[in-house]
Amino acid sequence: MLYSAGEVELVKNSTDIVSVVQQYVQLKRAGNSWKGLCPFHKEKTPSFIVFPATGTWKCFGCGAGGDVFEFLKKIKNQEFPEAVEELAEAAGITLKGDGTSGLSAGLSKGLFEIVDEAHRFFRKCFAGPEGSKVRAYLKGRDIDPAESGIGIGYAPGGNALLKHLRSLNYSVSVMGDAGLVITDRGDPYDRFRERLTFPILDRRGRVVSFGARALGDAVPKYLNGPETAIYRKGSFLYGYSTALKAARESGIAILVEGYFDHARLVSAGFSETVATSGTALTKKQAKNLMGMAEKQYICYDGDSAGRKAAVKAAEILLAQGAYPMIVRLPDGMDPDDFVKNRGREAFEELLRSAYDPVSFCVSLIDGKLPEGPERIRLAERLLEVAVSSSNPLVEEDLQKKVEEFTGYSRDALEKKGNEIRSSKERTGYIRKSAGNLGSGDTIVLRVATAGGVYNTEFVDFLRTDDLTTELGVRLLNAFRGQIDRGFSSVVPAEFPDDLSARCADIVWALEGVSPQEIQKLKRDITRKRRELPRLRELQEDLASSDPERKAIALEEFADMKAEDER
Ligand SMILES: [Zn+2]
Repeated sequence: MLYSAGEVELVKNSTDIVSVVQQYVQLKRAGNSWKGLCPFHKEKTPSFIVFPATGTWKCFGCGAGGDVFEFLKKIKNQEFPEAVEELAEAAGITLKGDGTSGLSAGLSKGLFEIVDEAHRFFRKCFAGPEGSKVRAYLKGRDIDPAESGIGIGYAPGGNALLKHLRSLNYSVSVMGDAGLVITDRGDPYDRFRERLTFPILDRRGRVVSFGARALGDAVPKYLNGPETAIYRKGSFLYGYSTALKAARESGIAILVEGYFDHARLVSAGFSETVATSGTALTKKQAKNLMGMAEKQYICYDGDSAGRKAAVKAAEILLAQGAYPMIVRLPDGMDPDDFVKNRGREAFEELLRSAYDPVSFCVSLIDGKLPEGPERIRLAERLLEVAVSSSNPLVEEDLQKKVEEFTGYSRDALEKKGNEIRSSKERTGYIRKSAGNLGSGDTIVLRVATAGGVYNTEFVDFLRTDDLTTELGVRLLNAFRGQIDRGFSSVVPAEFPDDLSARCADIVWALEGVSPQEIQKLKRDITRKRRELPRLRELQEDLASSDPERKAIALEEFADMKAEDER
């Protein structure tokens, strides 16, 4: 843990959540709470509420919620430690942490060290005799490894890395934690075998993992390191640490899919390039991309999969308020091919002629307007792209383009657009609210955290068995983890994303519980514990073929239920 429980709580208790939120959201007092328009989804009537008494906030429209740290994490796209630091500074508190997040500072330091050692080893193998294969491969692709400056390496077979790290006295468990060695399938073995390696750097330029390409026919062709304490995939953009400076200078950021697209563009002088490393763009990555430069270019492969993915990525960026442009590559070409064959100037020209997301979709049908039902479907699809924007100005701009191209009236398009938007919101909401925390578990966990403060006596009383859902058990364990580390109040921002949102659901408004209520709940739980073995027997009886046994069980079952309801 970066900061001690005491430090985090000191920061939290010295912070007025209402005034922090008010810097971003206009709030109006409503009884004991404050109300405003949710900054995390588009809405016209406020469903975003801040509860100063519990130090939490909650949006009843999109389901987002949490404490003051979680609010900053979301609105400024910060990591938990950054949010703590910012609020500490505002409150005039000096923290003693060292700036490493995730696990204990000592452990993450160990992970950085071992991954860096692996990187040096891969580089050495690349330069040595065993690396001749990789060098030949790169030559075949016409890539000069020195020119790209990205530190390509070679991971040999035969558990070479494992042996090397062992010789330096690293433990197998640390190798596993760093994602370098697979430890959970019998004898440990190297994750990356006979592969070309691309180092993945964090924001500060430290190697945290690798992307690796097979040299032969091994599958998968590209293998990415697993998520570890120092490699959080959801927010990572490959090449970010080196691209940032160039992007700030040029005012543009280029997003590609693959490692080689990235290597090619960087070699050609487009240092402001980052890659998703072959996975779908996430919201956090989108935010990071937007933070790099004002203009973002999506430059995916010129095949149907790449083009579909490009529109998807554009929709994610639009939803974050950006106005991305999509580069259209000739059919069947990827950015690597294009720059290799046509050169830097041609690519610059391509950037200049990039399309907004709606025009890009239109360009794919060569601007030919279909007739009848197909025209309607096309208009709907284009509108869907337009209304995915959270910025009303961008949306209007795109909607105008839909109008121009399809010829439908603005009025009709607006109506249809509203329909699409509200159906999107509905499905989004249902998905988010369809958690699997039963009402029983909710009550138990609410009492455990009433007022945003842990009732440690009650938590100690609880057993994992008392909770009936998997989510409930995970939350209880998360609570216990914080209590063990000395927290007296709940800090949901520190939990994994899915848990912190659910935690806000639980903690949001309950300011306190009377001792009588707690006593009653404890009695109920104790009774359930007693009944549980009997219930299991009854269940067996109910399933039995003996009619008499069944009838008796049924009667007893009804009695138990009646008692339950009293
Ligand atoms: Zn919301």
